[in-house]
Amino acid sequence: MISDTRTEIQHYDAVVVGAGLAGVCAVYQLREAGVTVRVLEAADGVGGTWYHNRYPGARCDIESLDYSYSFSNELQQEWHWSERYAGQPEILRYINHVADRFDLRRDIELNTRVVEVRFEETGQRWILSTDTGKVYSAKYVVMATGVLSVAQVPSMKGLDDFKGQWFHTGDWPKDGADLSGKRVGVIGTGSSATQLIPIVAQSAKHLYVFQRTANYTMPAQNHPMKPEVEKEWKENYPERRKFAWASGFGHNQVTNHLRGKEMSREARLAELENRWQLGGLYMMRAFKDILTDPEVNEFAAEFVRNKIRNTVHNQETAENLCPRDLYIGTKRLCSGTNYYETFNQQNVSLVSVKHNPIDTITPEGIRLEDGAQYPLDVLIFATGFDAMTGALNKINPIGRNGRALRDVWAEGPKTYLGLCVSGFPNMFVITGPGSPSVFSNMVTSIEQHVEWIVRCVTHMKNSGMQTVEATPQAQEDWTRHVTDAASRTLYAKSQNSWFHGANIPGKPVVFMPYVGGVGNYYKKITDIANNGYEGFNFGSASSGIGQPAESRLTAAAGHGRD
Ligand code: FAD
Ligand code: NAP
Repeated sequence: MISDTRTEIQHYDAVVVGAGLAGVCAVYQLREAGVTVRVLEAADGVGGTWYHNRYPGARCDIESLDYSYSFSNELQQEWHWSERYAGQPEILRYINHVADRFDLRRDIELNTRVVEVRFEETGQRWILSTDTGKVYSAKYVVMATGVLSVAQVPSMKGLDDFKGQWFHTGDWPKDGADLSGKRVGVIGTGSSATQLIPIVAQSAKHLYVFQRTANYTMPAQNHPMKPEVEKEWKENYPERRKFAWASGFGHNQVTNHLRGKEMSREARLAELENRWQLGGLYMMRAFKDILTDPEVNEFAAEFVRNKIRNTVHNQETAENLCPRDLYIGTKRLCSGTNYYETFNQQNVSLVSVKHNPIDTITPEGIRLEDGAQYPLDVLIFATGFDAMTGALNKINPIGRNGRALRDVWAEGPKTYLGLCVSGFPNMFVITGPGSPSVFSNMVTSIEQHVEWIVRCVTHMKNSGMQTVEATPQAQEDWTRHVTDAASRTLYAKSQNSWFHGANIPGKPVVFMPYVGGVGNYYKKITDIANNGYEGFNFGSASSGIGQPAESRLTAAAGHGRD
C-alpha cells in the first residue's frame, strides 16, 4: 500500500468489497499471488451471510464437508464439523478461524461501507469512497458483495406504528431476540422461514405463519457428524473436491442419470423415497429430466404433497401447505427439520395470505384484507433478498465514460461469464449474475471465480497490461447463452421467483443465474483463459488502448460430470 498524504487516498493493487466467504477467499489468494490488497467490509465482523443471518435455526443446505474451502489441505484436515449441516454459529466460527489461521485480518477493514466506486479514465484506476471518509484507489476492484446480502422488507402500510419488535432474518440482531412466551408472526415460507419456524414454535406462546406461496420443503435429515463419514472425506478430499468442481451443482451429490420418463411408476417412487431419506437438495437429482419434463416434475411434486398430507393432521392445513402452480425445484428447495410436523402443534397456525393478503401492520399486529386481525408481540420478515444484483446496484459503480451500472443493467443484468461487465475494466464480480452462483454449492463457485481472477491478474502483471475488459459482443453472446440454457428448463416457465428478480417491485424479470452446470462452466472459463482470454480486450499502461484477445467466444453447453 502506498499512502498519498495530500489527498489521503490509500493505494492498493486490489480492493475487495465484502468479507464473506468470497472476500475472505479472495484476500488469501490475492495475497498469495503477491498482490497488495485491502478488503472493505460494512459489518463489524467477517462472515457475510453467516454474520448477518443469525436467526434461530439458520444452517447450510449443502453438507458442511462440501460447503467449505478447498484451498488449504491443512485447513480441511484440521477443521471438524460437528453436524452434517452446520448451524450458523459454527459456520461463522469457521470463517473467523480461517481469517485468524491465515492472518487475514490485517488486510481487512471492518465497519467500512463502500458508497461510491468510480473508474478514473486518466489513471486507469478505480477510486472507492467509503462511509468512514477514507478513499481508496486500486488497479482492480473485486466485488465480493454477496448475492443474498440485501434484505428485502416489503413495503407494508403501518409498519412504523407497530408497537412490538420486528426483525428481518437477514439482518438478525447480534444479541439474539427473545421470542419465548410471545405471540410471533412470520411472514414468508421460503428457506429462511422453514428453518426458523420449527425453532420459534418451541418457545413462542403462539406462532402465526403468513404464507403467500407454499414451497417444497425437504427434510434435511441432519444429524451429528458420523466419524466414519468424516474420516472417509478427509482421506479422499482431493478426489471429492475434484468431483465437486466438475459436477452439476458443485458438490458431491448422488445423481440418478436415468430420465423419469424411462422409469416405471414403482421405480420412480422408490427413487423419490430414496431421495426423501437422503434429505435436502438430493431430490433435485432424482431424475435427469426433473427440471425439464413437466410430467416428471409433477410426479415428484405430487410425491412431496403426499408426504405433507401424511404428516400434517389437519387436512385443510395440509392442503394449504401443498405447493401448487410451482414446478418443484424452480424456487430453491427448502431444507428443514420438522417443518411440516410443526403445524401439528396447538400453538402454531398457518394463515394463507394468497387470496387474502396482508392489508396493514397495525400497532397491535397484522390485519388482512378481509379484516381478520392477528395480535402480535414480534413480527419476523422472512421475506428474502434483493438477490444477485441488489448489493451491486446499491453501490452503482461508475465505469468508462461515466456510465453507471444501474443504467447499463436497467433491463436486467448483462455480464461476460458472470465475472465481468463490459465498460467496467478491471472490475470483477464474484458469483455474479450469469454464473452458476446461487445454483450451486456457492463455496465451490466462489473458489472457481477467485482462482480465475487471480490467474487473470497474474497474467496482466506478467504481460505488463493495465486493463482487462469484456467486449460488448462477448457479453451479448454469453448473456444469450445464459438465457438459452434456462429456456430449455422449467425455470423459464416459473417466473415468480427471486431467480428472476420477481420479488422486488420494478426489478426487470430476467432469469439471472447460469444453469449450464458448475463443471461445464468451470471448463468454459478455464478454456477461455487458456486460449488467451477470448472475449476480453487488454490495454497497456502506455496506450490505454484495448487489445483484442486472440479469438472469439464460442459458448457451448455440455453436461456436468455428476
Ligand atoms: P456474503 O456472504 O453475502 O458477503 C457479502 C459481504 O459484503 C457482506 O458481509 C456485506 O456486509 C458486504 N457488503 C455488501 N455491500 C457492501 C458495501 N457496499 N461495502 C462494504 N461491504 C459490503 N449457499 C450455499 O451454497 N449453501 C448453503 O447452504 C447456503 N445457505 C444460505 C443460508 C442463508 C440464510 C442465506 C441468506 C444464504 C445461503 N447461501 C448458501 C448463499 C450464501 O449467500 C453463500 O453461500 C455465501 O455465503 C456467499 O458469500 P459471499 O462472500 O459471496 O457473500
Ligand atoms: P425467499 O426464498 O425469497 O422467501 C421469501 C418468502 O417471503 C416467500 O415465501 C415469499 O412469498 C414471502 N413474501 C415476500 N414478500 C411477501 C409479502 N409481501 N407478503 C407475503 N409473503 C411475502 O427468501 P429466503 O427464505 O430468505 O431465502 C432466500 C434464499 O437464501 C434461498 O432461496 C436460499 O438460496 C438461501 N437460503 C438458504 C438457506 C439454507 O437452507 N441453507 C436458508 C435460508 C436462505 P412468495 O413466494 O409468494 O413471494
